[in-house]
Amino acid sequence: MPNRILDLLRQGQPNDAVSVRGWVRTKREQKEFTFIEVNDGSSMAGLQVVANQDMPGYAEAIARINTGAAVEISGVLVESPAKGQRIELRAESVTVYGEADPETYPLQKKRHSFEFLRTIAHLRSRTNTLGAVFRVRNAAAQAVHHFFQERGFLWVHTPIITASDCEGAGELFTVTNLDLKNPPKTKEGEVDFGQDFFGKRAYLTVSGQLEAEIMAMAFSNVYTFGPTFRAENSNTSRHLAEFWMIEPEMAFCDLLGNMELAESFLKSVFKHVLETCPEDMAFFNERIENTVLETAENIINSEFARITYTEAIALLEKSDRTFEYPVSWGLDLQSEHERYLAEELFKKPLIVTDYPVEIKAFYMRLNDDEKTVRAMDVLAPRIGEIIGGSQREERLDVLEKRIQDLGMPIEDLWWYLDLRRFGTVPHAGFGLGFERLVQFMTGMQNIRDVIPFPRTPLSAEF
Ligand code: ATP
Ligand code: MG
Ligand code: MG
Ligand code: MG
Repeated sequence: MPNRILDLLRQGQPNDAVSVRGWVRTKREQKEFTFIEVNDGSSMAGLQVVANQDMPGYAEAIARINTGAAVEISGVLVESPAKGQRIELRAESVTVYGEADPETYPLQKKRHSFEFLRTIAHLRSRTNTLGAVFRVRNAAAQAVHHFFQERGFLWVHTPIITASDCEGAGELFTVTNLDLKNPPKTKEGEVDFGQDFFGKRAYLTVSGQLEAEIMAMAFSNVYTFGPTFRAENSNTSRHLAEFWMIEPEMAFCDLLGNMELAESFLKSVFKHVLETCPEDMAFFNERIENTVLETAENIINSEFARITYTEAIALLEKSDRTFEYPVSWGLDLQSEHERYLAEELFKKPLIVTDYPVEIKAFYMRLNDDEKTVRAMDVLAPRIGEIIGGSQREERLDVLEKRIQDLGMPIEDLWWYLDLRRFGTVPHAGFGLGFERLVQFMTGMQNIRDVIPFPRTPLSAEF
């Protein structure tokens, strides 16, 4: 069995006989030997290999090894005389699986721009930065499950194909089973994209919340963690057409309990990632954004700020900053407002609650003032909104009235209203965009660079 390079770097001892497999990062030929850095993706640092010219097949192997080649190297670990590394591998045999032509291999030794790397998404995971991103992403995903499972939340799998527009924002992709050779036509002879899911309308899910509510009404505490789709034609650095969302839903819970869960959740995920990916996090701090480690410590150790939407508007109105978008009670906060509040005023994550009913979705719990709802957004420095959540409207009559006032098709929501008819209970939950969390953790500027295969209006090559 070959060894994982991460394990060797952490625990390997001189005289250990080992073999590694991976891709060559660099090759430096000297007179009598060659340095080869091999990386297998398990860690930021590769393993330094020294191949001496007396190794059998030396000349032929070295000639075939270039940056990007896939190799297997066996030998013995020795103490490394070089600075910054404890051990290196003295090669005894080298197998080249696949060569890479240095003339055409797109990943050269220089630093590539993220824009360029997006054009070679199939190769960019071999770079230091994207490698670190995807290791952190994996650790964060593990921390998500760990956090909820430890607290007895049931992981529920909500459907990807669904009939409900949970957010009512009209950002739905329609699912179609159109027979492209013989599509149904409208009277005018145009292709009919209408009743196209076996005669019914169906969409890709924009949120698993409504279905998670169903499950919470039986299992008390549940969460979803899966892909979500929004037809966002906004080419921002924070929106994707396909992203992953984490949505806990808790029965017998109010807005306060929801805020507490969101805060301890973020603290716990940051802690896990700092503990399991220290090298990657140090790299982000050094090379991408020099506040990454400070931010992580800040999240873990200090309490989030909490203000109401009304207070947020007052703070924004008072500020001497000129914003591109207007600030006025009743208008939604834009990302520039959210960032200003979290980044500059509070300098830490901030929970804004009690938004005007007009700008929030139909399911949110109406406050006694009948003007605001028990909504909460968690705003993060550098990102803006990272979590959106609320206490849900549990009263049948109030919910029915709201659905009617909004002109939504109430008959389609009969099952949702049944939950209020039979054993209704105050309940609450939130949605966290997983990519925004990874962006926040790593300091990466663009959301396209924290998901392996970004889906945006501009890119979906494969
Ligand atoms: P925004 O105001 O940034 O468009 P939203 O209010 O539309 O977000 P919600 O419906 O509240 O988003 O969804 C919950 C969370 O999902 C958001 O807080 C955010 O972290 C994430 N999210 C929403 N839309 C996207 C998207 N297009 N790409 C990536 N993450 C998203
Ligand atoms: Mg949105
Ligand atoms: Mg929003
Ligand atoms: Mg929101």
